[in-house]
Amino acid sequence: MTASSMKDESTSSKHRKRKRQRNPKPSKEEPIETKLKIQRDTKICKNNQRGGSSSASSKRPKPSNFLDTLRERLSGGQFRMLNEKLYTCSGQEALDYFKEDPEMFDMYHTGYQQQMTNWPELPVNSIIEWLLSRSSSLVVADFGCGDARIAKSVKNKVFSFDLVSKNPSVIACDMSNTSLESSSVDVAVFCLSLMGTNYSSYIKEAHRVLRPSGMLLIAEVKSRFDPNNGGADPKDFVKAVCDLGFTSVLKDFSNKMFILLHFKKKLNSNEKKIKWPELKACLYKRR
Ligand code: SAH
Repeated sequence: MTASSMKDESTSSKHRKRKRQRNPKPSKEEPIETKLKIQRDTKICKNNQRGGSSSASSKRPKPSNFLDTLRERLSGGQFRMLNEKLYTCSGQEALDYFKEDPEMFDMYHTGYQQQMTNWPELPVNSIIEWLLSRSSSLVVADFGCGDARIAKSVKNKVFSFDLVSKNPSVIACDMSNTSLESSSVDVAVFCLSLMGTNYSSYIKEAHRVLRPSGMLLIAEVKSRFDPNNGGADPKDFVKAVCDLGFTSVLKDFSNKMFILLHFKKKLNSNEKKIKWPELKACLYKRR
């Protein structure tokens, strides 16, 4: 082997190593972001290889492609930052933040929708199916409604709440403090929305606005309830909700990505001291 071929070999093995580090095997925990990132990084890596050589300059990506890639990376980064923020601050802080900069809310939701395109099944659809199988006279409160998909898909009267209102049917507020009357709704929904550090106050608000025997439906990211991986013990969470004044009626862990928990409001409230478990943030890491 010549010196130069040795150099080539070591350079290309280094290069392979670098490539491997950039594109590690996706873990089960963060499949969505990882997939997207691998596609993006592969593009960037190819672009870098082309840069520098004059003969290759003709093969350089068109500026629009390059700018698109750059934009995509920037918005991906901003989405991850906002997502982490929502999981690590209180609802009131999140409300204040988006009030100051509503564009950030659009940024968050563009990223969120992109993430959702990679989920094999959307939890919100399970909730819609559940509602469609019941009387449309049930009044629903959708806490953290996002694009208000529930209100758009069922005939029921739906009160949709989120931090920012992007359409007139959405009520902008911190959902720990809604404008609903006590005991005025039949179904309270939290679909992937128990994000704030004060998430228990959202469930307390749902308890306040639900009629006795009303239903509380919760869909959450499964990894947040995996005690072997820093998540909460689902038993502790279910117990805390029950201590607040609910009976557990469904615990569905069959989906790979999310869990479904259904509760019925008890006729009489408890005055117990409740121990709410901390819920792990659902972060999407950049690789
Ligand atoms: N339920 C929708 C959106 C889930 S994303 C769906 O399943 O598609 C979580 C949503 O909860 C975001 O839109 C976020 O803005 C909202 N959210 C988080 N904390 C909130 C709070 N304190 N008050 C109101 N909305 C909140």
